[in-house]
Amino acid sequence: MARSVRDYSYEELLERAYSKLSHKPVKKEAFEIPKADVVIVGGKTIIQNFSRIADYLNRDPKIMQRYFMKELGTPAFLGESGQLILQGRFGPHVINRLIDMFVKKYVICPTCGSRFTVLKKVGKVFILKCQACGAETTLEAF
Ligand SMILES: [Zn+2]
Repeated sequence: MARSVRDYSYEELLERAYSKLSHKPVKKEAFEIPKADVVIVGGKTIIQNFSRIADYLNRDPKIMQRYFMKELGTPAFLGESGQLILQGRFGPHVINRLIDMFVKKYVICPTCGSRFTVLKKVGKVFILKCQACGAETTLEAF
C-alpha cells in the first residue's frame, strides 16, 4: 500500500525534495541582455518587443527611445503595443549592439557590476544609483 505524504517524516520529505532538484548547480540568476525582435517594413524599422526590453532593464521606454534617436540620428516613435518605430532601415545587429551599449553605460553599475540600478535625470546629467552597493555614478544625459 502506498504511503501518503503524511506518513513521511520531515527529514524524509526534505530528502525527497532535494533529490527531485537533482544536481542542478545553484547559481545567481543569469543576466542576459534581451535581444530585440526587429522587423523592417518599407523604410521603417520596428522593434516589436521594445517595451518588454525596457521593462526588463527597469528603464523608462522614453529614455531608451531618446537614446536610439540620438545614436541613430533618426526620429523614433513609441507604438501603441509597446514597439519602437524608427525611421530608416536598421538591421538587428545594429539594434542589438545599441541595446548592449545602453545596458553597459546606463544600466550596469560600474562599481559593482549589478544591474539593479535606477537612472534619474538631475538637471543636465543622469545619476545612475545602484541598489546593490549604493554607488552613484554621474553620466552625460541626452
Ligand atoms: Zn553597485
